[in-house]
Amino acid sequence: MSTQQNNTDKFQAIISHAKEYGFVFQSSEIYDGLSAVYDYGPYGAELKKNIKDYWWKSMTQLHENIVGIDAAIFMHPTTWKASGHIDNFSDPMIDNKDSKKRYRVDHLIEAHADTLPADAAKALLDAMDSLLAAEDFAGLKQLIETNKIVCSVSGTANWTDVRQFNLMFKTEFGAVAAEPGDDNHVYLRPETAQGIFVNFLNVQKTARMKVPFGIAQVGKAFRNEIVARQFIFRMREFEQMEMQFFVRPGTEGEWYQYWKDARLKWHLGLGIDAAKYRYHDHIKLAHYAKEACDIEFEFPIGFKEVEGIHSRSDFDLMQHQTYSRKKQQYFDNDVDPTTGKPYGNYVPYVIETSIGLDRMFLLILSNAYTEEDLSTPEKQDSRVVLKIPAKLAPVKLAVLPLLKKDGLPEIARELMNECKGAFKCFYEEKDAIGKRYRRQDAIGTPFCVTIDHQTKEDGTVTIRHRDSMQQERVPMNSIKAMVLNAIH
Ligand code: ATP
Repeated sequence: MSTQQNNTDKFQAIISHAKEYGFVFQSSEIYDGLSAVYDYGPYGAELKKNIKDYWWKSMTQLHENIVGIDAAIFMHPTTWKASGHIDNFSDPMIDNKDSKKRYRVDHLIEAHADTLPADAAKALLDAMDSLLAAEDFAGLKQLIETNKIVCSVSGTANWTDVRQFNLMFKTEFGAVAAEPGDDNHVYLRPETAQGIFVNFLNVQKTARMKVPFGIAQVGKAFRNEIVARQFIFRMREFEQMEMQFFVRPGTEGEWYQYWKDARLKWHLGLGIDAAKYRYHDHIKLAHYAKEACDIEFEFPIGFKEVEGIHSRSDFDLMQHQTYSRKKQQYFDNDVDPTTGKPYGNYVPYVIETSIGLDRMFLLILSNAYTEEDLSTPEKQDSRVVLKIPAKLAPVKLAVLPLLKKDGLPEIARELMNECKGAFKCFYEEKDAIGKRYRRQDAIGTPFCVTIDHQTKEDGTVTIRHRDSMQQERVPMNSIKAMVLNAIH
């Protein structure tokens, strides 16, 4: 079987597993679902929250100069005029005239490149990058035609011209417009960042922040994505974890490098193989951007962006200053060594780190999903185990009395009571112990503890480690500290 087929199978297996074990469900499934919108089930909600907390802690607790906010999804519509989203938040699209299917041009070409040998793929992607940078739509169409790229539905190359398509969702705000022509439209925010920019001075003043400092936020964002068929990789409603770091103009180069390194370290801190990550430096930059890169991860569907790091100059604050007619300046009383005077008033430059929470969830799931063959000459056996980093696992400890009698459940309950205030535990006494272990493997529980008759005699229990399946006998009163140690 080809590697590509294997990877497609693995992706499908992950999607099925996510549903079967209560991680991710299609939204409104009983009505046949809503395209590219998903719900998180009991274990999914735990995992998602743990990822969010891990990010939030690394930003707002481990950096003394970063504070968090929680801004509303609705914003004054002028925000989106100022940010450029009304005029520019669009992607070049092309329609296949036979299937009527619409594609994002870059995705269509990238998908074709995935089928080519490495050299040819690189040449094609380089050509695409330069045409995108030049906004040469006729050239992009020609590139699609000369490479004989066809629609996956109709199989034909009968394409329309390349056009721009705005990705923002629009809705009515308050009562319907009183007079024809009154505009009461608002947008569902397509990124969380603008809630940070418009609050820049509120936060700086109330939290008494000094440049350089950052503002972090986690929240929903909405994009009317055209190609939306890659499970939670590309959703129409999703969550972002964004941080805007405000710096003195002239220092943005070093801070960009700092955050580029720091963000990759954050990922690697989860113990994930570094070979599965790479940087992709952008060639096509927005006119205001100084530098930008993506952190890409090797998903089963190939290397794809999980996070963006962008050096955005003073573009956003300047735009808001212009549109709101309110100064967005900061007074810096640090002394400039070259002049011997304070740096004084300026509009800070911004380095942004922006990661999709759902995409990070998919990364963790893809990296964790493992099918193991445990067959022996006597017996065929296998297991599916989610090797989720212990600190992110939905359940940390399963407490399993070997039997439903002889006082074992009571002892197990004692351990539950001791631990459940400190971390998420799960209690189960049904089925054979092997079956119970497999169920915990399937949701990624790093530790299972079994209480048996020996526990009654000497106060020891068996702890089983998820990845190695090794078991050891330890005092029951050491379990809580052991788990706490592993999840911090
Ligand atoms: P892409 O090129 O994949 O559309 P983007 O470059 O438009 O992404 P950004 O605007 O930089 O993405 O958003 C920051 C992060 O938000 C991305 O790195 C990604 O993790 C996440 N993200 C963006 N769009 C979606 C989406 N439709 N569904 C899930 N996550 C998303």
